[in-house]
Amino acid sequence: MWRKISIAGLILLVIVLLLYGMQRLMNSRSFQLFGGITDHVETSEKVVALTFDDGPTGNVEQILPVLSKYQAKATFFVIGNELKSHMEEARRIVDAGHQLANHSYSHERILFKSRSYVQREIEQTNDLIREAGYKGEIVFRPPYGKKLFSLPHYLHDQGMPTIMWNLEPDTYYTSVADKVEAVRKEVKPGSILLLHPMYDKTGQQLQTIEGILEHLTQQGYRFVTVNELRS
Ligand SMILES: [Zn+2]
Repeated sequence: MWRKISIAGLILLVIVLLLYGMQRLMNSRSFQLFGGITDHVETSEKVVALTFDDGPTGNVEQILPVLSKYQAKATFFVIGNELKSHMEEARRIVDAGHQLANHSYSHERILFKSRSYVQREIEQTNDLIREAGYKGEIVFRPPYGKKLFSLPHYLHDQGMPTIMWNLEPDTYYTSVADKVEAVRKEVKPGSILLLHPMYDKTGQQLQTIEGILEHLTQQGYRFVTVNELRS
């Protein structure tokens, strides 16, 4: 009987370890099974990549003048089904010299999905990004940062880089002052910073963007696109 119990215990332990490993893999910002993944870039130059997830929405109109005030270039990880109804905003992003990047078509977790599902999510959005006039290399960021097998495999086949982040003040802080202070303290040359300004109606995300631009500019940082940072 004891032998049966210990075998059952061993099997349970293996299952728990596998689930734990899968969870770590799914959320890792610096490792995936296929192809490269970037959460920051090693450099001694004081450059940082500001990245905005989701949208585009009407909020783009307020964001662009703030970026231009600090001569900052940013990267917008946009969602295909939002692009369809906000092509005008997407064109403005491109015309202002910023980078458009792919954040899937429907913004659902791409975990246990078929290859054809992954292909649709990525290619439909790539087509819309081209329609908006963006000509540079298109990079991808998984919705919720989650990926396991089919997504990295497809991206690797297509030669599309996966871009994560190493600073995410929205996750740990709520006030504008706390977010700006956290970024000011933790930023390093080559950091990739994630913000979510597209669905904010309070204006606080815009204040956070401006606060970060102001403080990091004072520290001697320049704001470049993800592709400029990687080149
Ligand atoms: Zn997102």
